[in-house]
Amino acid sequence: MDQYCILGRIGEGAHGIVFKAKHVETGEIVALKKVALRRLEDGFPNQALREIKALQEMEDNQYVVQLKAVFPHGGGFVLAFEFMLSDLAEVVRHAQRPLAQAQVKSYLQMLLKGVAFCHANNIVHRDLKPANLLISASGQLKIADFGLARVFSPDGSRLYTHQVATR
Ligand code: ADP
Ligand code: MG
Repeated sequence: MDQYCILGRIGEGAHGIVFKAKHVETGEIVALKKVALRRLEDGFPNQALREIKALQEMEDNQYVVQLKAVFPHGGGFVLAFEFMLSDLAEVVRHAQRPLAQAQVKSYLQMLLKGVAFCHANNIVHRDLKPANLLISASGQLKIADFGLARVFSPDGSRLYTHQVATR
């Protein structure tokens, strides 16, 4: 954590607080997500571990947010991600008028490519919604927040909890 200088708070979701920060040595701007470790004693992988595992199991893809580093911090973990300007919920909220059809198509295409990539890597996201779709300064969409993600087995031999989904 000493390697980073916190520049401000970006967001807060259900599972963690996200800060904008600068790597002191390289000057790189990142998003730091602090996640607490809970329910470890019952032996189930908790949300933080799920997120780390899902992201680490995937190779880099331009439609999935890049995890740059993970380190333990205060009984939990800090995940360092590439910094993104905004998320789709904010973009829609601050738009003066409804997004143009071409813009919607472009976001949808990037979303579908990202989802296809996750599925090709046997990861189901299970929490796709505008706040979890990050938008870069150049308008690129990337899927983020793998806190509810799971590895699935293509042969259907695993059992999954039902009703875990976001519309
Ligand atoms: P939670 O599990 O708490 O929902 P998220 O990973 O969805 O956490 O992050 C919460 C919010 O923080 C996002 O909706 C987004 O606005 C912001 N955020 C998350 N990651 C980044 C990032 N890499 N760059 C910029 N903002 C981010
Ligand atoms: Mg989220």
